[in-house]
Amino acid sequence: MSTDTLTIATQPVATSRISELDFNNIEFGKIFSDHMLVADFKNGAWQNPEIVPYGNMSLSPATSAIHYGQAIFEGMKAYRGINGDILLFRPYDNFHRLNISAERMCIPPISEEIFMQGLEQLLRIDAAWVPPTAGSALYIRPFMFATDDFIGVRPSSNYRFAIFSCPVAAYYSAPLRVAIETNYVRSAEGGAGFAKAAGNYGAAMYPARQMQEKGYHQLIWTDHKEHKYIEESGTMNVMFVIDGVLVTPAVSSTILAGITRDSVLTLARDMGYKVEERRVSVDEVVAAHKAGKLQEAFGTGTAATIAQIATINYNGEDLDLPAIESREVSNRVAAELDKIKTGQAPDPYNWVQ
Ligand code: PMP
Repeated sequence: MSTDTLTIATQPVATSRISELDFNNIEFGKIFSDHMLVADFKNGAWQNPEIVPYGNMSLSPATSAIHYGQAIFEGMKAYRGINGDILLFRPYDNFHRLNISAERMCIPPISEEIFMQGLEQLLRIDAAWVPPTAGSALYIRPFMFATDDFIGVRPSSNYRFAIFSCPVAAYYSAPLRVAIETNYVRSAEGGAGFAKAAGNYGAAMYPARQMQEKGYHQLIWTDHKEHKYIEESGTMNVMFVIDGVLVTPAVSSTILAGITRDSVLTLARDMGYKVEERRVSVDEVVAAHKAGKLQEAFGTGTAATIAQIATINYNGEDLDLPAIESREVSNRVAAELDKIKTGQAPDPYNWVQ
């Protein structure tokens, strides 16, 4: 990682809370590591990066982000390598994507120095929080939000950047039942769907809950114009294997460019599979299923790496997919990706820091 050293004032905790954590029984998203990084944008510059004990922030009720939604985030993981090292997976990609989201939301970009060195120093001080147990990881949440206490719709003059982390257990989910959404949309051309903007997630909760009430874990988003083309699945990118070819919607202004998505496509290509990034219509997927050619469907994302899809509902009909064990492409790629992330396989792509 970075070699220059930025001065980051550090206020260590008096007593670590790590003894409260049972690494064999981690509750997702509830226990946070001891420290967080914070930096503020004021007078036109990001300044005073600091590592402080994890804790509440004091905010004015008029804090602009709460009202007008200038708030963005990232999600990434650190893994414990086989020799005990702490390994970050493609952190520069998260850094770049945070700044892509920042630009769309009129938030000033964070410097690579503050992001990368802040992250590195935070991980050093909280190293003990990276779980040693296979499959678990330290989930890292960088985020930025507008802090002006001003009621009026305009870009804020002040912002906060922060990073905190929480240990997470090996992700396991039963294969998903998903349903194709033909009413609500997550994003539209010209909108902010390609950004990790907080509001995208808030607006997706209601349609997701409607699907859950119908018995599906997640929905598959379709395009806003015709609901004919597949976009993403819940908060994951989505991929299909049709007649031996790995097919996924091309990234666009309406789709988040997932880092797992890119990693899966790269590995699959290098394993010799044919990969197509293009528009994927609902009709194509349904027809492939009818013809017995829909071999695999899965979501990709940092949380799960690969989340297998067992059933796709379209217009009231459940399409059941082949058994998970039979899914060659996703099983092979998922296994290889997990090995690379934990230093158990060579990393020709320089993904691991
Ligand atoms: N799409 C959306 C909407 C997401 O929130 C995420 C999670 N960041 C993804 C796709 C997957 O992205 P990644 O592989 O970078 O986690």
